[in-house]
Amino acid sequence: MAQNSINALNRGQNMNKKNTKKLYNDFPNLYKQHKLSIMESCMPWGFDCGDGWFNLIYDLSKKISDIAPECEVVQVKEKFATLRFYVNGYNDENDNLINEAEELSGRTCEICGDTETAKIRGDGWLSTLCDKCAMIK
Ligand SMILES: [Zn+2]
Repeated sequence: MAQNSINALNRGQNMNKKNTKKLYNDFPNLYKQHKLSIMESCMPWGFDCGDGWFNLIYDLSKKISDIAPECEVVQVKEKFATLRFYVNGYNDENDNLINEAEELSGRTCEICGDTETAKIRGDGWLSTLCDKCAMIK
C-alpha cells in the first residue's frame, strides 16, 4: 500500500457525482434533505462512502421508499469499514433493511463493489476491500 493511498482512504471515499445524482433523482423523497443547509442535515454533504457501495445503497433506497415513503435519510457514510445509514424515523421494517445493508457492506468492496473476495481489512484504519483493490491501495 502506498502511503498516499492509505491517507486518501483514511479521509474517506466520496461517491461520484453521477451516482449521487442518480440516487437523488430516483428517490427524491428519501433524499430530499440534500437540499437543506448543512446546519439542518448531513445529507447536503452527499454520500460519504465509495462508489463500490452504490448498488447496495440503491437497493436499500428502493426497498425503504417502497415500505416507508415518508422516510427521509439524514446521513450516509462509512464508519469502521461498514455502511452507516441514518434516517429520520425507524420502524421494524426499515431497521431490518438497514441492518442487512450495513452487514452486507462489510462483504462488499467499497471501491469496486466486488463481493467475492471483499472483506474488512487493515489495522487501525479499517476498510472493506477486495483482493485487487487492497493490492492497489
Ligand atoms: Zn475492489
